[in-house]
Amino acid sequence: MSAGDLPQAVEGLQLNFCKTLACDNFGLSDAHRYIVQQTNPKRPAMVCRECGAFPPLLNNQDVLEEFQRIKADQNADLPGCRNKACENFGLTIHTHKHLYHAFGYSGERQRYRCKCCQSTFVDKWSSSNRKLALQESLLGLLFTGYSVREICRKLHINPKSFYDHIEHIASRCRSKLAMFDQRWLNHASKFELGSFFVPLQPKSNNGVYWLASGDAHSGYILFQNVNYSLTDSPEGELEHNPFRSPTRYVALNYQPESSMPERSNLSTIREQIDNQYRAILARNNVEDPLSNLTSFHYPSKGALIRPPYASYAHYLQLFSLCSEDKPLALYLPQDPFLRSAALTIGLPRIQAKNLDLMYVVGQWGNESPLEKVDIIHMGWWRDRWAIAENHQYAKGICYLAGEQSSPKLWLQNASTDAISTYQERFHLLFESFVNEPRRKLRPAGLLPVLDIYRAWHNLCYQKRDGLTAAQSLGLANAPISLKQLLS
Ligand SMILES: [Zn+2]
Ligand SMILES: [Zn+2]
Repeated sequence: MSAGDLPQAVEGLQLNFCKTLACDNFGLSDAHRYIVQQTNPKRPAMVCRECGAFPPLLNNQDVLEEFQRIKADQNADLPGCRNKACENFGLTIHTHKHLYHAFGYSGERQRYRCKCCQSTFVDKWSSSNRKLALQESLLGLLFTGYSVREICRKLHINPKSFYDHIEHIASRCRSKLAMFDQRWLNHASKFELGSFFVPLQPKSNNGVYWLASGDAHSGYILFQNVNYSLTDSPEGELEHNPFRSPTRYVALNYQPESSMPERSNLSTIREQIDNQYRAILARNNVEDPLSNLTSFHYPSKGALIRPPYASYAHYLQLFSLCSEDKPLALYLPQDPFLRSAALTIGLPRIQAKNLDLMYVVGQWGNESPLEKVDIIHMGWWRDRWAIAENHQYAKGICYLAGEQSSPKLWLQNASTDAISTYQERFHLLFESFVNEPRRKLRPAGLLPVLDIYRAWHNLCYQKRDGLTAAQSLGLANAPISLKQLLS
């Protein structure tokens, strides 16, 4: 590789280009359009010759590997061809029924044969659950806020068997969800999605973020992931090096350098937006929220993924689920961590004029008329914000990509509340589980609970209108009970 090249494209994936929408270099990855240097890791590796922006570089190979990792997690135990050499590998009967024949039974379980390689496999979730009663009690106790120790005592099981049950339930939940997800993805004519992210364990400063995306109105969560892997180890250098794979792991001796003390009493929405821009600019990589942490403790096992690799992988997966010919609107919290990834992965949709992308801050009541909308340019990027305020509400929209930039429509409609509420409720429901002292640096035990929680939230939990998220989307006629979830 000669000096001045961008990191290599991998399997057609090249995520490095100017991310300024109005710039002539937007979306273009020819090296001559940029000044690229790799000698000084403290300085921008790439500067756009047109607009002067310096989007952080990524290693395409590492993004792809992170994408494959989270996809494999998501599909673990789902019925599909198991033959790694087969082109149907990893495609499940829920999403790709036409690739398989029903092929008799193995005991009570449905057997299938792959039309491509003729290998057979069973759907392990097609038989009845023999542990139903115990697992129903266990979930009931977990959702009522009992600690692991208390649940074990009440059910006369040991912690090892508690976690085995949780893993088993999580697999079953993923399988249930896959069917509902697919129903939605097939029948929707357009998508209006919101994304949000929070620290998975807000009190532990372990650097693990939880990203979630779903239907902006019903709150049906379609996809979530975290920037942590129990089975990987943190290989690579301390400094991020986009030219050498692997580079997606946070090094064990990483220390955030550019933390910013939080300011309190931000009374207006403009102050909130302005303060968030300061926090972003205080990072040494604007797309990495990790460097805003004032203290940091590495998880005791496994590897932490640099957050941008998780957000790029998040949108690779999310956008691959939603058919490219259906219009998609995506609402984001004000943060380049999600913005850059969504904008980059959304490039083909932006070019096809099929994506509306925006930041949303604050809230507006449906009953409140929009009288006056102020347009203000804010932040280093001079982002164009449309802000509405009255005595009761304040809301800002920053339209990032798309063809319908008229702010009034979006000020009424766009929201990330359904997604942020989903995450807040998790922290309320599982507060003691999340904050158990011995779990602070062991986030792995929470991962199956996230799958279970997503299933419960989408299929069982009734919102204020009495409907579950799945009902609101027309995917179910009635709420599903915990018992049905487990059978
Ligand atoms: Zn540019
Ligand atoms: Zn096969």
